[in-house]
Amino acid sequence: MSWIKVVGIGPGCMDDLTPRALRAIVEANAVVGYVKYLKFIDSLVEGKTVVASGMRTEAERCKKAIELYKKGLKVSVISGGDPGIYGMAGLLLELAVKEGLRAEIEVVPGITALNFASSLLGAPIMQDFAAISLSDHLTPWQIIEKRLDMAAAADFVIALYNPASSERPESFRKACDILMKHKKADTPVGIVKNAFREGEWVKLTTLFEAPDYPVDMNTIVIVGSSSTKVMGNWMITPRGYEI
Ligand code: SAH
Repeated sequence: MSWIKVVGIGPGCMDDLTPRALRAIVEANAVVGYVKYLKFIDSLVEGKTVVASGMRTEAERCKKAIELYKKGLKVSVISGGDPGIYGMAGLLLELAVKEGLRAEIEVVPGITALNFASSLLGAPIMQDFAAISLSDHLTPWQIIEKRLDMAAAADFVIALYNPASSERPESFRKACDILMKHKKADTPVGIVKNAFREGEWVKLTTLFEAPDYPVDMNTIVIVGSSSTKVMGNWMITPRGYEI
């Protein structure tokens, strides 16, 4: 029986691949994914049909997966982190439903960047939080600004995915300026680059100083709420227990 699974592989270290995700890759005859993510699992794909593609070719990748599925293959589409968070799951499901394939599809969850960054920083998201991507590739910048403004006004802990890229080097600074309309300059901020993979870098700073640090597409930033504090080396948003 052929199937398609869209598989979250976590941050890119074998230790963080769930047993379910591992099984989905091992049992597949074909593995489709972004080149960079396929590299993380290259030891698992030997002998399989491998379709590697570049960034911004997501739709072609999904179409290729559906094509292989129709040929009778078991296909795993690899997605970094969790496939349902700025990942491949939505697009694949939309295309698959359009083609009437829904029954043979499974979304296999993975650990998202927010989780691994949070664990390296301590416990910054113990309370309500919002995740906002600063990528304006598929979302207009005005909408991103509105979400930043409102999430900060509501005092959420805010995780910023895709904080800056070579095409938009100023987006992180602009985002911090908006957040500072509602959050104090000394609000704790955790910057995590390449979590759980080569080149890992973790910095605990403040909202005022954060824009001076280099961030890129391998970085996630967690901005605290009004109750977030730094204790020892940890960034902690207290859950509210009496201690
Ligand atoms: N589906 C992915 C997110 C894709 S968007 C997930 O669930 O994690 C890509 C963004 O995720 C990057 O720009 C960065 O903000 C974040 N990211 C992914 N892996 C990361 C890592 N190992 N360290 C830090 N940030 C990471």
